[in-house]
Amino acid sequence: MLGAAGRMGRLCVRAAVQSAGMSVAGAVTREGDPRVGEDSGELAGIGFIGVPIVTDLGEVLTPGRVLVDFSVPAVLPAALRLAAERRCPAVIGTTGLKAPERAAIESAGEAVPVVAAPNMAVGVNVVFNLIARAARSLGPGFDMEIVELHHRRKKDAPSGTAERMAEILAEARGLSHDGIVRAREGLIGPRGDGEIGVAALRGGEVVGEHTVLFIGSTERVEIIHRAGNRDSFAEGAMRAARWVSAPGRRPGVYSMQDVLET
Ligand code: NAD
Repeated sequence: MLGAAGRMGRLCVRAAVQSAGMSVAGAVTREGDPRVGEDSGELAGIGFIGVPIVTDLGEVLTPGRVLVDFSVPAVLPAALRLAAERRCPAVIGTTGLKAPERAAIESAGEAVPVVAAPNMAVGVNVVFNLIARAARSLGPGFDMEIVELHHRRKKDAPSGTAERMAEILAEARGLSHDGIVRAREGLIGPRGDGEIGVAALRGGEVVGEHTVLFIGSTERVEIIHRAGNRDSFAEGAMRAARWVSAPGRRPGVYSMQDVLET
């Protein structure tokens, strides 16, 4: 587990220990982290598991193990090189990746199977499939709009998931991403045919809700995803770890769609 002392890392440690047939083989954090030496299970709130937090990935990523990462982009090139050298499959959850990290994922994917996904929640990925299918089947007679609702502390808007949903809708309908309208106000005139509206609402403690509306002249379809808590990401990561390490899995770069559908 790379990033084992972080919020997602601790949830993944707990999810791995609680998943049948899985265990935590190593727990890695950054140099200088005050939690080095602590037991990763105790840090995750599940009691002693005998796997201390260390700083050297090379010490724990040995052949036969899977690299699961929720850390920071800068560590990925070296971590993925090591995974490729040691023939360890990888699950990459870290977001905000730029060209060097994307190139590192592609390069590791030539040697080992790698699942990389900015949102590992199983339900969200199923919704991604459903909205693409609905967009294609319902066709241009249905206007497409997205509403997302998050807690009052969220820093960015619209959410990365809403942005991804808008891209999926555009691609499914063959529309330009330029038609994605992130807010409307004032005298905007009639809605354009190629528009996909995205509205962001904020309030309270809502973990995350996304509603995709397909609005026709005689009927309306709404597809809604409501997140309960961050455990859904860790559960998705465990599912990806199991999938990526299945016997016979070929090298390549895979998404959560691959994990869920094959
Ligand atoms: P966090 O800040 O709580 O944890 C990140 C951890 O990485 C920290 O403990 C930090 O010490 C550690 N770290 C930093 N440098 C390191 C290094 N050199 N080696 C090892 N560990 C190092 O953040 P978080 O909320 O756990 O999120 C981590 C990442 O996962 C973010 O990029 C976040 O956006 C992403 N994320 C992805 C999903 C998903 O479904 N894919 C879901 C939630 C969060």
